[in-house]
Amino acid sequence: MSRVAYVNGQYLPHGRAAVHIEDRGYQFADGVYEVVAIAGGRLTDWDGHLRRLERSLAELRITAPMGSGALAIVCREVVRRNRVTAGMLYLQITRGVARRDHPFPRGVAPSLVVTARSIDFAAVARRAEKGVGVITMPDIRWGRCDIKTVSLLPNILAKQAARDEGAYEAWLVDDTGHVTEGSSTNAWIVDEQGRLVTRPAGHAILNGVTRQTLIALARRLGYEVLERPFTVAEAQAAREAFITSTTGFLLPVTEIDGRPVANGAPGSISEALLAAYRSHITEQSD
Ligand code: PMP
Repeated sequence: MSRVAYVNGQYLPHGRAAVHIEDRGYQFADGVYEVVAIAGGRLTDWDGHLRRLERSLAELRITAPMGSGALAIVCREVVRRNRVTAGMLYLQITRGVARRDHPFPRGVAPSLVVTARSIDFAAVARRAEKGVGVITMPDIRWGRCDIKTVSLLPNILAKQAARDEGAYEAWLVDDTGHVTEGSSTNAWIVDEQGRLVTRPAGHAILNGVTRQTLIALARRLGYEVLERPFTVAEAQAAREAFITSTTGFLLPVTEIDGRPVANGAPGSISEALLAAYRSHITEQSD
């Protein structure tokens, strides 16, 4: 099946879709993005992603290319044209095309690209059943990790370091020894009392839409959620640990820097939360 991409007002064959070489996203990483899960052909937690997108744009003073209603229509059309029932939507907005110069260009229209592709969620489920390993490394990113920019070089280097060591994810650690988040996921632990612990939203992390949803779901299920930083040592001594993201949902962390978390198998609280999260997704796809 041929894939279709939306680029600045046109639906194009994926292989021929392109932006100009002087797009500021290409030259300066001057842009933002969102990844939205598709379940049952529907966009999951669209409102949360839209809210975060609008916030990222406002923080960087990039004009929205269209209103939120029109954007939703374009995104749904990309899903439909690609016939994706289970997968992900990728949406990127950059400051636009202009002669290369650092200051914001005047009177330039932002660039909008939207793509969609299928994901094998059965493989994601198998990964969740086994659990994943993480390594820890210094967080060398900038001071505004709350903005979802396409500037992801430190994240990419961290993810690759993890893969080179046979781990799935890298947990990034700040100067005080506290975990900020994963290279493309939020980080969580479960303490001895069965309380969930995750870093508070602030400039040091991306406030994951999955994170926000899971906090609400967990509280509704009666779990106590503490939004506070935790150390690597705390995580290694934790009852359970896990990561969350749009495309991975919730993945139990069973090993940190080569040491097993508890008995080295996914924990029951992680499993219960994943089940609740799956129900939340299914409810929206009905
Ligand atoms: N942190 C980072 C650095 C990320 O890139 C992502 C997602 N790509 C997340 C956390 C998780 O966010 P979400 O749940 O919205 O996918």
